[in-house]
Amino acid sequence: MFLLRKPILALSGNTAVRDALTSTSLTASVVDRFIAGETTADAVAAVSRLRPDGLQVSLDHLGEDTTDRATADATVEAYLQLIEALAAAGQVAGAELSVKLSAVGQALIASPDLPAGGNAYALAGARRITDAAYAAGARVNLDMEDHTTVDQTLEVLFELRRAHPDVGVAIQAMLLRTPKDLAELTGPGSRVRLVKGAYHEPAEVAYTDPAQIDLAYVRAMKLLMHGKGYPMIASHDPRLVAIADRLAADAGRSPDRWEHQMLYGIRPDEQRRLVAAGKQVRVYVPYGSDWYGYFTRRLAERPANLLFFLRSLTSK
Ligand code: FAD
Repeated sequence: MFLLRKPILALSGNTAVRDALTSTSLTASVVDRFIAGETTADAVAAVSRLRPDGLQVSLDHLGEDTTDRATADATVEAYLQLIEALAAAGQVAGAELSVKLSAVGQALIASPDLPAGGNAYALAGARRITDAAYAAGARVNLDMEDHTTVDQTLEVLFELRRAHPDVGVAIQAMLLRTPKDLAELTGPGSRVRLVKGAYHEPAEVAYTDPAQIDLAYVRAMKLLMHGKGYPMIASHDPRLVAIADRLAADAGRSPDRWEHQMLYGIRPDEQRRLVAAGKQVRVYVPYGSDWYGYFTRRLAERPANLLFFLRSLTSK
């Protein structure tokens, strides 16, 4: 399956395939498995279903690689609307919002009427979301995208942390630079979501062998568990889930000082098993209509996801 990862991930940027798939309803039931729905109300309904089972949430308004300001602004507005809707439903406290900076303007090109460039635009949008989230009792975590965006994303993170010191960030174990980045991210209160990394990266900057990525993940977990921050172990991998538990115990971390994270629709029974075992678990809940990039990354990760998708195509 790892051989298929590269071509599938390449499809995530293919607009012809995206248009063909998203213009038909054939994918709807498949997409539903991984995505909470298209609207704010769908997202709030998913939160209301997950929370009674003891699961925490991180909500992602789907979208990425935005190249125009109107779409970036609409994404910011969507998050503000979500915060209000969560508050109205009594679900905002303790919720987290996951933000992709490329969705709020990071990829915009500097121009005479945008002299500071896309990252400054993304910072301004992320700041509006973050201020509103913290005012309402929620938190924010920055997703991490491909390796070319890491410096800019960390720059935005440190700016946001001036006002809200526990804004979190995703860090990708597969990147060779990660141990150096973690050295700056394990201070008191620093929330770090550790992931394997979902993008196709060149060997110059990343481990490409799955076994090496797993080893790098364990090394990064050790740094986080022994650090002073708040580790968020985002993986469905049973071995890594078990190792996280052992490392937390070795580091003397009680279950309230770190958490597991998993994606909506992936290993839901395991999510509930961990809660029953006294662990904190946060589910990443994506919603919105721009699901294509997110969906193709999930297909690339696991043969069963791809088979499930192919079977649904042939049964139509
Ligand atoms: P995988 O390598 O996908 O799977 C390992 C093993 O886990 C499998 O062999 C199988 O035994 C088990 N497993 C996996 N899926 C299933 C399943 N459906 N049913 C049963 N067993 C299963 N990536 C980024 O690059 N940036 C981000 O900001 C980001 N945020 C994320 C947030 C969260 C909460 C999570 C969970 C992931 C995020 N990712 C992000 C994606 C991440 O980088 C990985 O691509 C993704 O999690 C797959 O890696 P894995 O560790 O779950 O294990």
